[in-house]
Amino acid sequence: MTTQTVIDELQRRFPNEPEYIQAVHEVLASIEDVYNQHPEFERVNLIERLCIPDRIVSFRVNWVDDQGRVQTNMGYRIQHNNAIGPYKGGMRFHASVCPSILKFLAFEQTFKNALTTLPMGGAKGGSDFSPRGKSNAEIMRFCQALMLELWRHVGPDTDVPAGDIGVGGREVAYMYGMYKKLARENTGTFTGKGVEFGGSLIRPEATGYGNIYFLMNMLQSRGITDLQGQTVCISGSGNVATYTAEKVLQLRGKVITMSDSDGYIYDPDGIDREKLDYIFELKNVYRGRIREYAEKYGCKYVAGGRPWHEKCTIALPSATQNELNGDDARALVANGVIAVSEGANMPSTPEAVKVFQTAKILYAPGKAANAGGVSVSGLEMTQNAMHLSWSKDEVDAKLREIMGNIHAQCVRYGTQPDGYVDYVKGANIAAFMKVAKAMMAQGVL
Ligand code: NDP
Repeated sequence: MTTQTVIDELQRRFPNEPEYIQAVHEVLASIEDVYNQHPEFERVNLIERLCIPDRIVSFRVNWVDDQGRVQTNMGYRIQHNNAIGPYKGGMRFHASVCPSILKFLAFEQTFKNALTTLPMGGAKGGSDFSPRGKSNAEIMRFCQALMLELWRHVGPDTDVPAGDIGVGGREVAYMYGMYKKLARENTGTFTGKGVEFGGSLIRPEATGYGNIYFLMNMLQSRGITDLQGQTVCISGSGNVATYTAEKVLQLRGKVITMSDSDGYIYDPDGIDREKLDYIFELKNVYRGRIREYAEKYGCKYVAGGRPWHEKCTIALPSATQNELNGDDARALVANGVIAVSEGANMPSTPEAVKVFQTAKILYAPGKAANAGGVSVSGLEMTQNAMHLSWSKDEVDAKLREIMGNIHAQCVRYGTQPDGYVDYVKGANIAAFMKVAKAMMAQGVL
């Protein structure tokens, strides 16, 4: 197998899916050598079977807005691979959602879930519905309308959705409520539920906290044991970004930026606990914009900008795919960044990744660094199946252990002859070998 042959063929078959091709390319380039050491993989065309999703469900969603007009959106579920467990992955509600973006996310999710050490396959879903500016009642009606179709494709041992961009606790609760009503059972099926009805403690925090646990594992390899004295740029101001900031503060780091899709704020004094509480409230209660932070605290706001040209030692992209390009990466390196750890999925472009790795800074790809979210989702599934709830400390301890384990797998498979750890290669090879072995054992399906 050569990466280029597979990519050329995928491009021919799926010509309008750049994000999907980008994600596949990144993985194949790093596993090519290992794959070619196993002729038995090639004999059963394992690579194509791993790149192309098992199943894509797409459907129309009709719902009624507050003015009584009927609106139409698309709904999707991409069930990518279930070799190691039930399909598992979030739902994204954003105007940009399309098959290419969901296929890239489902593909990545398959590898990420393999790294968690828990038995979960990979999936992703969502809709081009934009929650922005919608009333609570509209959100509820949309979620219910979507579930009228989706419920028959998911289930506690079949496919377990969760949140992602535009889908937080509120949306998961509406979708799960409708699922229960239609399926007439109470077995979990969604993760990220409220703690009152089967949700796990620490699930909202898990992706952000997990990213910092992973970062600390990387920094420890360079003799750094806390974040005091580190200046941190974070993008986004949603679920992942806010809990990432919370953990940075707990470890005495200084967060100087956060953003949303309209722009970013730069606060040279640092976003302290009180200011972060304001952001939580702004985003979750008032559904406001990050610009309002600058108005309240009198700091700089850059409309339409991204934070990567501000001077920092640690960068944590936590908003969306391809939000950090080659120029941004060069600016970060020139400004002395020592570590980049991805809370978002595929936020750095291939050119940016190359810049980080050439500069030999610590660079962790999302599929390793942000796997804490789905890991605690896996723990939520376990708690639901056992009909019990673990304490906050128990879940947090398991999360730390899992992130340490993922880090160890990356070091094992990614350490280069000069000692530099290529976390991309490490994560991809570790995950690929696990999924490949499971697929081989189960025959041609
Ligand atoms: P949220 O919807 O809670 O927050 C997303 C944030 O990113 C918002 O601040 C949003 O701004 C911003 N954003 C979204 N799209 C863009 C864009 N095109 N350009 C600039 N900013 C944008 O989502 P999450 O925090 O859950 O997800 C963030 C990232 O983390 C995603 O890549 C997701 O796939 C990944 N992830 C999430 C996990 C989870 O557990 N939630 C698990 C693992 C990964 P605005 O409000 O203006 O839209």
